[in-house]
Amino acid sequence: MKKIVVVGGGHAAAQFCASVLESGQAVQMALVTEEGYLPYQRPPLSKTFIKDENPQPAWLRPGSFYADNGIVVHVNTRVTAINPGAHEVTLYSGDRFSYDTLVLATGTRARMLPLLDGDFSNVFTLRNMADAQGLREQIGPAQNVLVFGGGFIGLELAATAAGLGKQVTVLEAADRLLGRSVSSEVSDYLLATHRANGIAIELGCRADRLEVADGIVKGAWVGERFFAADVVVVGIGAEPNVELAQDAGLSCDNGIVVNEFMQTSHPDIYAIGDCTAFPSASLGRRIRLESVQNANDQARCAARSIQGDPVPYTALPWFWSDQGGTRIQIAGVPDTHHERALRGNPADGKFSVLYFDGNRLTCAESVNCPADHLASRRLISGEVPLDRTKALDPTVALKTLDQA
Ligand code: FAD
Repeated sequence: MKKIVVVGGGHAAAQFCASVLESGQAVQMALVTEEGYLPYQRPPLSKTFIKDENPQPAWLRPGSFYADNGIVVHVNTRVTAINPGAHEVTLYSGDRFSYDTLVLATGTRARMLPLLDGDFSNVFTLRNMADAQGLREQIGPAQNVLVFGGGFIGLELAATAAGLGKQVTVLEAADRLLGRSVSSEVSDYLLATHRANGIAIELGCRADRLEVADGIVKGAWVGERFFAADVVVVGIGAEPNVELAQDAGLSCDNGIVVNEFMQTSHPDIYAIGDCTAFPSASLGRRIRLESVQNANDQARCAARSIQGDPVPYTALPWFWSDQGGTRIQIAGVPDTHHERALRGNPADGKFSVLYFDGNRLTCAESVNCPADHLASRRLISGEVPLDRTKALDPTVALKTLDQA
């Protein structure tokens, strides 16, 4: 029976196991994760997990799923080396597991600001349940929450903390929020909305020194301005976990390089999820994405490839972010070369920014417009030619435009 070892215990790993089982082929599977838990949902960590009274991990699959299907899960176990020639992985304990096919689902790790990279008991990044538990405990009694970084995780956390009545300040080095991820229309809307909800946001702002007492960061200075902190959260992006692959001689370039079937530069090793740099069918270049959709769809793709039924990865990227009462949903990947236009009015609290290449929709950023998001996913995937005037008229439902 074919032996598959999966390294990592996140969204991609769990979906991969489920997709292999769906095919009905007999395989032996082992999942190795350095975390102390079965795979769980990561998105709630910056949202409900911090504010709910008694939060529980949202398991991606119940424990019985692994037990009943003969999937051996090794928690608290880190894979430290791969020997592709011998088809073997080595664990931190020194034990070795052999495989016929290896799947790397190692995800990313949070970046740290050099200024805050010390032994401070009130400084957090937010990547896993252990981070979220520590943060939760300190946010409870805190008054001032200082967030470095106006990206998705920083803003979600800021909105959650503000909802708990905390005095929240976000320091963002760039001149707008989410500058690498969304249009300026969405950035501007979020800036106004978060400020209206009491979050202080400073743009173009880099802290140059800290105030520290007894290993606790009391605040940060930006020139002559001081920003007080009881808790500090650093949300400045993530790095792919590629070292295992790199040390094994696999090709890596801002991610573990895979082809359209999720196969790495070694034929018996696949990689899926946040850790991969993959060829984007729509953009015609290699990209890396960090989203639940991408992790799940790449997992499905790898499962098919490994079972001899390969189909190239062409799934449309989509993403969501909940920031207090605001839901942002993105279909496709924004391309700054494409023309963009507003559908609806930000002043109404709901709108979409549509990107066009000629008469084709290529991306849609929707704010509090779930219907636009769902319709956009179909219009983009179907490459439906659109009448732009109708597409930009918020009184015309987008979903009616593929029925012409
Ligand atoms: P991960 O889920 O990161 O899993 C990787 C796993 O591999 C980890 O458990 C890691 O510890 C383990 N690992 C790494 N190296 C080793 C090793 N050598 N040995 C053993 N185990 C190892 N996406 C959305 O689409 N919408 C959202 O709203 C959203 N919110 C988010 C909020 C937060 C706080 C975070 C952190 C992420 C959020 N994301 C969101 C992103 C989403 O969670 C990721 O895209 C998704 O988790 C990627 O899945 P993955 O399996 O590739 O990696």
